[in-house]
Amino acid sequence: MKNKHLDKKKGMSRRQMLKLLGASAVTYGLLGASSKAFSKNAAHIVIVGGGIGGASAAKYLRLLNADVKITLVEPNPYYIFCPGSNEVIPGWVTLEDLMASYTTLKTRYKVNVIQDKATFIDYDKKQLKLEKGGVLSYHKLIVSPGPMHGYHAIEGFNKELAEGDFPSAYNAGRQTMTLRRQILSMKKGGTVIIAPPENDYRCPPAPYERASFIAAMLKEKNPSAKILILDAKDKFVLSDNYIFYWKKQFGYGTENSMIEWVPAKKGGKVVKLDVSNHAVITSDGQSHKGEVINIIPPEAAGLFAMQNDLADKQWCPVDFLDFSSMRHDDVYVIGDSVDGAPMPKTGYIASNQARIVVQAINDELHGREIGTPFLINDCVAMAGHDYGMALSTTFRYDGKGKRLKDLYYIPKVETNPVKQIVRQQVAENWQRTFRKDIFE
Ligand SMILES: Cc1cc2nc3c(=O)[nH]c(=O)nc-3n(C[C@H](O)[C@H](O)[C@H](O)COP(=O)(O)OP(=O)(O)OC[C@H]3O[C@@H](n4cnc5c(N)ncnc54)[C@H](O)[C@@H]3O)c2cc1C
Repeated sequence: MKNKHLDKKKGMSRRQMLKLLGASAVTYGLLGASSKAFSKNAAHIVIVGGGIGGASAAKYLRLLNADVKITLVEPNPYYIFCPGSNEVIPGWVTLEDLMASYTTLKTRYKVNVIQDKATFIDYDKKQLKLEKGGVLSYHKLIVSPGPMHGYHAIEGFNKELAEGDFPSAYNAGRQTMTLRRQILSMKKGGTVIIAPPENDYRCPPAPYERASFIAAMLKEKNPSAKILILDAKDKFVLSDNYIFYWKKQFGYGTENSMIEWVPAKKGGKVVKLDVSNHAVITSDGQSHKGEVINIIPPEAAGLFAMQNDLADKQWCPVDFLDFSSMRHDDVYVIGDSVDGAPMPKTGYIASNQARIVVQAINDELHGREIGTPFLINDCVAMAGHDYGMALSTTFRYDGKGKRLKDLYYIPKVETNPVKQIVRQQVAENWQRTFRKDIFE
């Protein structure tokens, strides 16, 4: 490991960067990008991961700079958004609704999209190796591989089981559909167990949003069924709002409640999956049987980041001025892999981090001082078709080596039914416009 803060921009001098731009590189905006072939000498920015962070970086870098060469490496031919994927479970939206293709990034924004998996970074040669044998030389590398799911942290659990009968469904896709099918075919009066992890993990309200949507589904199709939330923590974000809604809709807190939430201090933490008995074991040694078992395992930085020495123990440390890696020069990490607390791991944040990185890279390319970042997370969540909420936070740069400073705005529980619906609609519209913003 290199302590890059001793020689932060040693990777490339300002003069070298300016040279790379060439005479035409001061052009801004998209004008010219579609017609101009990339200059042989144009700076090459390579991005690993075509999810929310990576795709935002590609698009917004192009909007800032018509000349730079941008390559995006992503193994999948399309991206499926996780925001909105809880709604697939009751069938309110389909997975197809959440899919985005890379066509617009390729054709309109002139991003070279390579369908492959990045495997290895040669930091000395500034090269990225790909699984199918390709090698890409980069001037700057942006890494946004999403999180790695730590299935093995739960005894008896593993990726194969999550792909089979015990879906985590914490990456939108096949597992989401399995979870839906299992709930639809569950016997009358069956139990769905949801086991959320400790912090930090992507989208903190998502397990509780999921529980609410499943409850709505069961209320209609299987009203004697139960949802047991066995939690690895003692409190959860927006709990006042969720509990208010659960009381109103599902009798929460009464003997007949459809939803029961067990915090860690009351023995909620799941430590083992007992496959043969279709049960989970909690830290107090109790066994809980469930017809459907949805364990959301703890997370860490994506495997690619881990294998390439970008992470400390669990997450990737960055300089919050520009999200450059604290461990290697000319590499930036964004999205769920970042050691970013108090920033939550959300798509909203990943996309905003991407904008900060590309602005910083573009400033550096033009020999300008990097500006001070300011981030917003406007996390929307829902409890049902008739209840939405939002959690707005701003994050300010607080000086070198310090974490970002946060200022929370947690709205009070909304009791006015009209406003509840308005907030739900704001949340739903946000998902749609967010998808368009990144991929169109
Ligand atoms: C159920 C659920 C609901 C959510 N709802 C919301 C919401 O309402 N609002 C919100 O803001 N956020 C929400 N999120 C969180 C949001 O999805 C993530 O925070 C966001 O996707 C993080 O972006 P990312 O770029 O870090 O990772 P991702 O979007 O997961 O993208 C990572 C990409 O990297 C690729 N990749 C991985 N390894 C490699 C490699 N070696 N080479 C090349 N590519 C690679 C992957 O294929 C993937 O496409 C939700 C998450 C879940 C699970």
